[in-house]
Amino acid sequence: MTRDQLLTAPDTVLPTLRGAVAGLPSYVPGRRGAGADIAALASNESHYPPLPAAAAAVAEAAVTMNRYPDSAAVELRERLARHLGVTAGEVAVGPGSVGVLQQIITGLCDAGDEVIFAWRSFEAYPILVELAGARPVRIPLDDAEGHDLEAMAAAVTGRTKVILLCTPNNPTGVPISHESIEAFLQSVRSDILVAIDEAYVEYAEAGSGPDSLALYRQYPNVCILRTFSKAYGLAGLRVGYAVAAPGIAEGLRRTALPFSVSALAQKAAVASLDAGEEMEARVSAVRQERARMAAQLEAQGWKLQASQGNFLWIRADDDLCARLVDAFDRAGILVRAYQGDGVRITVANPASNDRVLRLLEAHAA
Ligand SMILES: *Cc1c(COP(=O)(O)O)cnc(C)c1O
Repeated sequence: MTRDQLLTAPDTVLPTLRGAVAGLPSYVPGRRGAGADIAALASNESHYPPLPAAAAAVAEAAVTMNRYPDSAAVELRERLARHLGVTAGEVAVGPGSVGVLQQIITGLCDAGDEVIFAWRSFEAYPILVELAGARPVRIPLDDAEGHDLEAMAAAVTGRTKVILLCTPNNPTGVPISHESIEAFLQSVRSDILVAIDEAYVEYAEAGSGPDSLALYRQYPNVCILRTFSKAYGLAGLRVGYAVAAPGIAEGLRRTALPFSVSALAQKAAVASLDAGEEMEARVSAVRQERARMAAQLEAQGWKLQASQGNFLWIRADDDLCARLVDAFDRAGILVRAYQGDGVRITVANPASNDRVLRLLEAHAA
């Protein structure tokens, strides 16, 4: 039989995806654009090029691409340990913090186990949970666009294995206070891993969110997730990390896909940590722009929650969402729309931020 005959024959059974895979929501990638007048504000990337020291480290490491990277990422883990005041044994790295999160979920959850997270939050959460055969438990955000920790604690069952806390929350920008996480940790069983996803922590004003390392030192079931993709500007290189109790961190290193963090990424991450002050200057410029935009949008009549990330969140019903998507599209500004929930706009350089402000002024209530 030919391939076509095989495909159309009634008794041909083709390979099928697992139910959990077939039913997955698709991850909608931030839309991309090229060209001088496209503003790419859909993925919360840094608009700055990589730090010069990171670019130099990548160029230098490029000539060793014929070799596998250090699968234990010893140099990077030791540098991170020094940066954070923990031991290298408590650090696990992965291809982006999404990669590390996947290791966490597949490493801790059996089929049917439950993972609790706020909703709306990071789109990758339900996908990674369902892929692992676990059950996502979404707890609606409160009226101030923040985590409803009481409802999250009340949703715990005997099957709960992991709770994800995203602070500041993507896409709303609202942080979770230190005190509320501490109270939450006191009320949650110690065998449940509480992962604090701090992808945007560098952009947060000091004191607005938790001192996650202090919480980690006090509660061994806390795990911290951070990334080089956002403030450090290395989204394209894929490197992030977890800080977790040694047994968990060791498990994450064991479940990692071998060599998933390239030598280029490891070297660039080390160089970026060494250039922390330069990163901080860039982040502080973004914070200033964020404040300027928030003030102007408020003056235009928009009601926003204060964002601690490098993005702003505009709550919008179906109708407003559709109007904004259309307007941004026509203006050549790529933003992330969540139909019926709102629109997330990355804060970038003053020129593109001004374009956003002008566009939104025309749609203000
Ligand atoms: C961007 C982001 C991440 C990290 O992405 P990686 O590029 O995989 O490190 C993690 N969590 C949230 C909430 C994010 O927005």
